[in-house]
Amino acid sequence: MEYQKILEEIYREIKPEIGRGKVADYIPELAKVDPGQFAMSIVTVEGKSYNIGETKKRFSIQSISKLFTFTMALKMYSKELYKRVGVEPSGSPFNSLVQLEYEHGIPRNPFINAGAIVVTDSLIDHYKDEFITLENILNFIRAISTTPDININPYVAKSEMEHGYRNRALANLIKSFDNLHSDPVVCVETYFKHCAVEMNTQELARSVLFLANRGTDPITKKRFITPTQAKRINAVMLTCGHYDASGEFAFHVGLPGKSGVGGGIVAVVPGKMGICVWSPALNRYGNSHAGTLALELFTQKTKLSIF
Ligand code: GLN
Repeated sequence: MEYQKILEEIYREIKPEIGRGKVADYIPELAKVDPGQFAMSIVTVEGKSYNIGETKKRFSIQSISKLFTFTMALKMYSKELYKRVGVEPSGSPFNSLVQLEYEHGIPRNPFINAGAIVVTDSLIDHYKDEFITLENILNFIRAISTTPDININPYVAKSEMEHGYRNRALANLIKSFDNLHSDPVVCVETYFKHCAVEMNTQELARSVLFLANRGTDPITKKRFITPTQAKRINAVMLTCGHYDASGEFAFHVGLPGKSGVGGGIVAVVPGKMGICVWSPALNRYGNSHAGTLALELFTQKTKLSIF
């Protein structure tokens, strides 16, 4: 298929939508980002890449990091992890507190904030120290993206820490139900830091390629997780990757995907490719407006949805 031509078509058609919506302003450092930007990258399992727009420009990956921490925790704990975090869609916004109270501190899934905080806690448990945990998260992201210079933007992390009342409330609530082992302040700081990792669409598309190939990087042949774990992660992305808009994303796009409030979305076409799109202005669910539409156009034009 002529992917480059398709990306160019998408770019042309999407142009009027770029900048529509709102950048995430509850993290002041992210409010400074120019909403009029767009980038889209594809990396196929054969190692071919196709790019359009500002695909070399790094942005805040935010909740896309939850995909990477979930993968690490699943690899460490296997099914045991599900005692602490579920795999059901929440039907609620990503930072909701309400459900957590009803469900006794067991977050619905690893992709809402509460679930990601528990996952981060499980990593701190394993590595016994928050700095070593962070270093291992970074090293994992560097390995799957084959990019050694991936780092955290300390200003974004600090900015979120200064306004992180809701996430700290989530961590405290979880702690009160005995589902958090580390100090809630330390755990949430570690969570904010991995959310503040910066990558571009080329690096992110490359980093999900192992999920398109049953857990093994198709190019380096390095095995990161088992085929069953890859299947499960893709399933949770499909059902929970876009918070309370996950149903809509499955309906319109039809691919496992994970979004972040930095405006990035990664998606996986099993057996075929990793995709990443970025455009910072968000829809009311906190997912990239133009990015979601671009992915919808992509599956319409290529017929590459999983359905
Ligand atoms: N760091 C952000 C938060 O906790 C991540 C949210 C997101 O990307 N949806 O609010």
